Amino acid sequence: MDPVRDTLDRPLRDLRISVTDRCDFRCVYCMPKEVFGRDFEFLRRSQLLTFEEITRLARLFAASGVRKLRLTGGEPLLRRDLERLIEMLAAIDGIEDIALTTNGSLLARKAASLRDAGLRRVTVSLDSLDDAVFGAVNDVGAPVGRVLEGIEAAAAAGLGPVKVNMVVKRGLNDASVLGMARHFRGSGHILRLIEFMDVGASNGWRLDDVVPAAELVETIAAEWPLEPVDPAYAGEVAARYRYRDGGGEIGVIASVTQPFCHACTRARLSADGRLYTCLFANVGRDLRGPLRAGADDAEIEALIGRIWGRRGDRYSELRTAETARAPKIEMSYIGG
Ligand code: SAM
Repeated sequence: MDPVRDTLDRPLRDLRISVTDRCDFRCVYCMPKEVFGRDFEFLRRSQLLTFEEITRLARLFAASGVRKLRLTGGEPLLRRDLERLIEMLAAIDGIEDIALTTNGSLLARKAASLRDAGLRRVTVSLDSLDDAVFGAVNDVGAPVGRVLEGIEAAAAAGLGPVKVNMVVKRGLNDASVLGMARHFRGSGHILRLIEFMDVGASNGWRLDDVVPAAELVETIAAEWPLEPVDPAYAGEVAARYRYRDGGGEIGVIASVTQPFCHACTRARLSADGRLYTCLFANVGRDLRGPLRAGADDAEIEALIGRIWGRRGDRYSELRTAETARAPKIEMSYIGG
């Protein structure tokens, strides 16, 4: 089956599904406490897509070309019985891969059941190995050790190679890059360094805070020489490098300094059923409404096809100082 294609001829291949907008961390670059405090109104249960609704949509996305699903949030492991959703998604025809992005806080106890349900891979976010730095990033005092346990449990459960995502913000955790590289070299896990992005409306993004991927690669290569590796598949967002001494590989995601919009095949479904065709969008299209109003499969599939068919987003390739300042939908809502 041919996937639907957008105005720039990009096929729809990946769907990121946010299963909750809640998180147990308050990472300063994503869900700062000043905004996501006690008074913040998260989605109510009735607003969230049910597992049945998510599965139905995922099936219609698969019919439109999607092959890969990624569950995200918020913190996806906070959604109760997530394993049941994974089982339902794993049974969809055409879905070849189901992955999950998590902060790792609940992963150690859930890794085996996630794998049994049909999850294939996990990406764990971790921004430093230094408890003081990590605590300043997550802002709830979550310890590094708990996340490391989650990573090891995931690998032991067969969810590897585990990718470890580190968002680097100048002055916050850039001094932790070499320590992270040292720790994950030779571990079988793949460290991925991510440029701090201008998503959302509340993280006070400034270009000066971005550590360019080229600088990150140079810093690591000065210690342990690196060489580039070809992408594993078309449209891979991380540029890959391997340690020349056989210590494994790293990836860098340069969405600010080397945007990859031209190869972006990703759609995003928010926890309340809005479809976003770009991480930096500020409007999404409601799918939950038609779903709950009784639209049939053909109607919803046609709607998905129309939304994707009109897509022309290439935000990062066209970013200007002005668009970078403009408010966008929060990453915790749309799913990273
Ligand atoms: N709670 C899960 C987690 O921590 O991985 C999943 C959701 S989180 C929004 C997904 C990813 O987005 C994390 O790796 C996080 O570090 C990253 N992220 C959040 N805000 C970002 C920003 N401003 N720039 C770059 N990455 C960001």
